[in-house]
Amino acid sequence: MSTAPLTASEVDELAVRFEERTPQELLAWAADRFGDRIVLTCSWQFQSSVLVHMLHELGATVRIVELDTGLLFPETHATREALIERYGITVDTIRPQRTVDEQALDEGPELWTRQPDRCCELRKVLPLMRALDGMDAWITGIRREQSPTRANARPVELDETRGVVKIQPLVTWSVEDVMGYLYAHDVPFNELHTRGYRSIGCMPCTQAVLDGDDERSGRWAGTDKIECGLHLPAQAVPESAPDTPS
Ligand code: SF4
Repeated sequence: MSTAPLTASEVDELAVRFEERTPQELLAWAADRFGDRIVLTCSWQFQSSVLVHMLHELGATVRIVELDTGLLFPETHATREALIERYGITVDTIRPQRTVDEQALDEGPELWTRQPDRCCELRKVLPLMRALDGMDAWITGIRREQSPTRANARPVELDETRGVVKIQPLVTWSVEDVMGYLYAHDVPFNELHTRGYRSIGCMPCTQAVLDGDDERSGRWAGTDKIECGLHLPAQAVPESAPDTPS
């Protein structure tokens, strides 16, 4: 992975500058600053729909990547198709090196029930490293109110381990801000959000929650795990992991 294109002090200055600016201002600046070396990763939750629409309105051509674990909901795939059809975007799909069945042969069935961190490493974190290969900047849809682990997220951050600047236009937004934007602009979004799924990942590790529950409490419910690792500093890749970044 290459060295980050900005220093920590430059990123800090940008984070302060964009704290009071709109998401669109940050996206426009980032698309201009990083050109063809910036990527938006889409999980096809409602933040993805907002960001795809904003980039479309800005006329910014930004590489878009999805990390398809092979365990996503049909509604999640349908959201991708709806956004492709509506906005004419091109989506680069990155998959784990092994299918779910191949993983079961090597690691045992339903790895997510026994070693969810290992499963996320193989099916999300390592594919992300391939998505970021050659990139200087990474646009994410994380928001501060999603979880305590995201409470201190800033609009611009440095991911030194992965060698990229993180661009996070929606950090200050609430769920109401997101839904208000989507309805105001008639943007397609993942219909699971209307059925109690406040945060959406892989089928085996996602469930609907009740009103008032924490936003990510339906992810890995009943465990302490609340992050898949994409938004945590990258760890050393286990020697046994066959999904070595290419
Ligand atoms: S969310 Fe669950 S199924 Fe998906 S990669 Fe992580 S542990 Fe595996």
